[in-house]
Amino acid sequence: MPRNATTPARAQFDQLQASVKRCRLCEESLPLGPRPVLQIDPRAKILIAGQAPGRRVHETGVPFDDPSGDRLRDWLGVSRETFYDPTKIAILPMGFCYPGTGKSGDLPPRPECEKAWRRQILQHLDRLELTLVIGKYAQDWHLPDIKKNLTETVRAWKTSDAGVIPLPHPSPRNNLWLKKNPWFAKSLLPELKRATQAALRAQL
Ligand code: SF4
Repeated sequence: MPRNATTPARAQFDQLQASVKRCRLCEESLPLGPRPVLQIDPRAKILIAGQAPGRRVHETGVPFDDPSGDRLRDWLGVSRETFYDPTKIAILPMGFCYPGTGKSGDLPPRPECEKAWRRQILQHLDRLELTLVIGKYAQDWHLPDIKKNLTETVRAWKTSDAGVIPLPHPSPRNNLWLKKNPWFAKSLLPELKRATQAALRAQL
């Protein structure tokens, strides 16, 4: 097969990605309408499994292009260039479109995404070396055996499957959580940086 030829698996993936971009499955529940925001490529070595886009991300179409993203890149020790390279890092929230806001912040991710798309996409991401599971919704899905609250789940990060690290959301709204849990910066973040660099090196 010529070097640049599209394989059947790649063609299937491209078709899937195009279908996701056109999705209007739960548009009646979305206050600003559908705009799936995700970054995927079958060559990705790291998966960032998050919650759902916020309003700002809905407007820009760029995931984590905000203070939360700045902090997350700092936690990982990666540049914006690396972060937004889909052949290195996949960003796949539990819900792909902005779900709206309730009394205490953004609403939960729309459940339709998981059944319609997310499982299929994950089947194509078969080169992952590291999965970062951010926030309770993603942790409930990716770490179903850990029936703990977010703090306990993150604190028990050493007991997670190899290659899976639970994280709190890097939002400035979690500054108090970070202050109350100094072990996170002291023991988890150095390991997170090390695991990130190891996974990126596996790209070579
Ligand atoms: S949230 Fe998911 S299921 Fe709903 S319209 Fe967006 S991509 Fe489709």
